[in-house]
Amino acid sequence: MQDFVRIGSYVWPYRRLFVLSVVCAVIVSLFWAMNLSFAFPVVKILFQNDSLHGYVDTEIQTLESSIRVDTARLEEIPAEQVKSRAQIQYRVSEQSRSLLLLTKVRHSFLPYIPRDKFDTMAMILGVLLAATFLKGLFTYFQEMLVGSVVQLTVNSIRQDCFRAALRLDYQSLHRIGTSSLMSRMTNDIEQMTSAIRVFGVTLVREPLKAGACTAMAFYVNWRLTLLAITVVPLMGLIFSLFGKRLRRASHRTMESMARIYECIAETFGSARIVIAFSGFRKHRKQFLKANRDYYTGSMKIVKLGALVRPITEIMGVLAVFAALAPGAYLVLRNTDSILGIKLAAEPMGIAELATIYALLAGTMDPVRKLSGIFEQVKRGMAGSERVFDLIDEASIVPEPKSPRMMIRHSSMISMQDVSFRYEGTEAEGNQRPLALKGVSLDVRFGEVIAVVGGNGSGKSTLLSLLPRFMDPGEGRVLIDGVDIRELRTRDLRSQIGFVTQETLLFNDSIFENIRYGNSGASREMVLEAAMQAQAAGFIQQLPDGFETIVGDKGGKLSGGQRQRIALARAILRDPSILILDEATSAVDSQSEEVIHAVLKEFAKNRTVFIISHVLNRTFLDLVTRIVVMDQGRILATGSHDELLDSCAAYRALNQSQLRMRDAA
Ligand code: ADP
Ligand code: MG
Repeated sequence: MQDFVRIGSYVWPYRRLFVLSVVCAVIVSLFWAMNLSFAFPVVKILFQNDSLHGYVDTEIQTLESSIRVDTARLEEIPAEQVKSRAQIQYRVSEQSRSLLLLTKVRHSFLPYIPRDKFDTMAMILGVLLAATFLKGLFTYFQEMLVGSVVQLTVNSIRQDCFRAALRLDYQSLHRIGTSSLMSRMTNDIEQMTSAIRVFGVTLVREPLKAGACTAMAFYVNWRLTLLAITVVPLMGLIFSLFGKRLRRASHRTMESMARIYECIAETFGSARIVIAFSGFRKHRKQFLKANRDYYTGSMKIVKLGALVRPITEIMGVLAVFAALAPGAYLVLRNTDSILGIKLAAEPMGIAELATIYALLAGTMDPVRKLSGIFEQVKRGMAGSERVFDLIDEASIVPEPKSPRMMIRHSSMISMQDVSFRYEGTEAEGNQRPLALKGVSLDVRFGEVIAVVGGNGSGKSTLLSLLPRFMDPGEGRVLIDGVDIRELRTRDLRSQIGFVTQETLLFNDSIFENIRYGNSGASREMVLEAAMQAQAAGFIQQLPDGFETIVGDKGGKLSGGQRQRIALARAILRDPSILILDEATSAVDSQSEEVIHAVLKEFAKNRTVFIISHVLNRTFLDLVTRIVVMDQGRILATGSHDELLDSCAAYRALNQSQLRMRDAA
């Protein structure tokens, strides 16, 4: 229900188009009921051998005589019997009104109607044809209008979806996963689209059609129509029972569709490994399972959907029978009541019965169509739940309500007693060990800090706190005395240059990749940054130079080349804080030494953090202080020589470095 309101708010800007489509639907439904009401004159002519002229004449005669009788009776009734006089007077006035109408029809309409019965019939058929044509035209208009509203609506929902995902923090994005995002923005929205479309077209038009027919049937004989309608609550019950199951099944199929996306992305995203390790079987099995899950879920939906249709049809026939059987009794026995219950104002004619039948059948057809789209609507509702869940997903790295002004960092970065725990999955009981345990570190502006330690000791986690990829569970991070949670993330990140472990490039030119994050940079600035990152040399050797397209995720370049481009990107941003997380791990050692030398110059007037495993001379020359981490704690900080003296872990690290260098 809430989702309906949500979708409604998206439709709201296009309400005029929508209202217009509803108007078209109303016109269609009127034509529908009118066409079916033609059963009345058709039966009159074909079976009772009446012509319209004859019918109107007899009606007028009956009315006139009954008015005459009533007026005569009125004169006999004494003036004191106010109530019965009023009754008769009311009846007379009603009859006079009908008389007036019929007389009008006789004078202004009947002259155009042929007297011959076959000609009349032919004319009725002609009108029927014209009405059907007009009905078709308005059906077309309605669907066109709804179609454009739906496309516009869905476009803005998809746009919002993408925007919402962009606003999310890194961890939440990681948890939801690219494949799930993709399936929500494609498959689930697609389900939603078709549901909104049938909603706008069928769910508006068909009930109107059914309503018009029912109203008409009520007009012909309300008692019999009422009998037919008793089936409706029963139908509602069945629909709601099926609805719940359908929704659950739809959710499950959408989740398995997301798994199919995931499987495709994972398999072909790591095609090189899959081929090298011949992992085909494993992935085929995974895909088979995801595919089978999808099949099972879909079959459940198909089964439920297939059941709904015949059931509604049976109920529909029951409803028609509920009116038709007593109706036929009335006609064939030529009476107006069954078992003393009055069912018709006067003995029914076969034409009335035929009309009621046509109108009730005309009611059932929309109901049948509605049951057909039921499954689609339920699928769409499940889809919209998933889509709106994404749109509503709150970032766990919230923006401050009243952000502080940020001036360029110039004095101190301090981490005060920070602890951090990665969110676990539910299977793990949401409990992972702490990745950081009460870490405190003060860094003066201008320092170059090396962070060293074994794999998984928490180095990357620690430095991810600075650009607020995530917030610490406990403790706080201050830049120049301001808690970074009080800064606008945009301002904060504009000061930070970040080169991550896995260097990610976009499928664009090298030039644009370097310029990413500083779109105003000139060609000279880009070239300068590329030179500093030791990238200019190899770039200029490429046939297209800076215009070389790097391929998906930079796949056309080697790992070291990618890292140098990423470094140039960070340098070009002119950050006050530079974070390099194993940024040169794939660069050859010669270039790495040059990069270290260049960074020494670049590091002036900035604070730099470098995570590295290589403790060579140029690197030690660059850094001012080394932080040794182990199991989420800082073991020691100090210069190379101090740490060699005081820290056993650092000594061990250095030993293994030396051994490696010797081996090389
Ligand atoms: P380092 O960079 O020192 O190798 P990390 O900071 O990447 O280590 O990781 C520290 C710990 O946190 C490790 O035990 C690792 O398993 C865990 N960890 C890292 N990233 C995630 C993540 N995205 N989700 C869950 N746990 C993580
Ligand atoms: Mg790391």
